[in-house]
Amino acid sequence: MGFDEIIGQRIIVESLRNAVKNNMISNGYVFSGPKGCGKTLMAFIFAMALNCSGEADNRPCGNCSSCIRTSKSNHPNVKLVMPTGHSIKIKQIREIINDSSKKPFESGYKIIIIDNADKMTNDAQDAFLKTLEEPPEKTVFILLSENYSLLLPTIVSRCQVYRFKPVNSIDMKTFIEDRFDYMSMDIEAAVKHSRGIVGRALELLGDRESFNTYTLYIDILDKALTGNGNDAILMVSEAVSDKETAERFLEFSMSWFRDVMVLKESPGSHDNLIINAGSLEVLSRHNSVLTEDKLNSIIDIIKKTFRYVKYNVGIKNSIAGMLFSIAEVNSNNG
Ligand SMILES: [Zn+2]
Repeated sequence: MGFDEIIGQRIIVESLRNAVKNNMISNGYVFSGPKGCGKTLMAFIFAMALNCSGEADNRPCGNCSSCIRTSKSNHPNVKLVMPTGHSIKIKQIREIINDSSKKPFESGYKIIIIDNADKMTNDAQDAFLKTLEEPPEKTVFILLSENYSLLLPTIVSRCQVYRFKPVNSIDMKTFIEDRFDYMSMDIEAAVKHSRGIVGRALELLGDRESFNTYTLYIDILDKALTGNGNDAILMVSEAVSDKETAERFLEFSMSWFRDVMVLKESPGSHDNLIINAGSLEVLSRHNSVLTEDKLNSIIDIIKKTFRYVKYNVGIKNSIAGMLFSIAEVNSNNG
């Protein structure tokens, strides 16, 4: 395990490699980016590099005792802190502070990785800030966050901030092909829906069945909205066989049009709010053909269909009727 395991993020990798090589280490780092973009992996590889006993320009070597223990999450100097429940509480931060003021168990750096750092409560952030202001020697804090703007600006300003970028499709495809045994066609589809996030592509590949269902759902809604109501209805039996599958399709439809509504109401600042973020292209297209009134009508139609299905009123016919109504709403002018 080393920096080569990381796909994309070349600037971040180079910068961390140089920091290790030249022994220019900050006390605080923020790794920011969406779930699945590789922040945790990067943090552990950086932690390995910091305590690696290999040659200076080839750290982490991946072979020394320190590297091996870090890669197995088994190094006494490397700690990972995560939210308990919904937040990281002041008690947890006090423990870290206490811990980091003691001498490291082994020589070298103490590394404290805080996952979902933006989930620190206000008290916890205040306490943490004090530690960052007077950091213990040879201690490195790595804060991982999907949204670092939720961290106190005074914390951020004391850290080196690295923002993870989406990985381009070609690099991602090659990376997955080299390491996994999936069919090339499947890799392509997963990469397309991953929005540049490796973890998401791998998740989709690992859960092939739900991925297929997901693309079928989108297909059905897309057909209904683009004036092919009959085609959409013909596909219903593929997606819906009983009450349970009907409810799953309805829940998906609801999340889909809710996403379109988010796009309409907050264009540009929707990153964390969109559920079906992997299909932004189709969502945007639907946003451009639907007015807010039409969207509201569609959401009402879905709610009504939920009730029919709940009471077992002709399940497949109810879903077909819903798709027909959606097609009709969109073909009405105005
Ligand atoms: Zn090593």
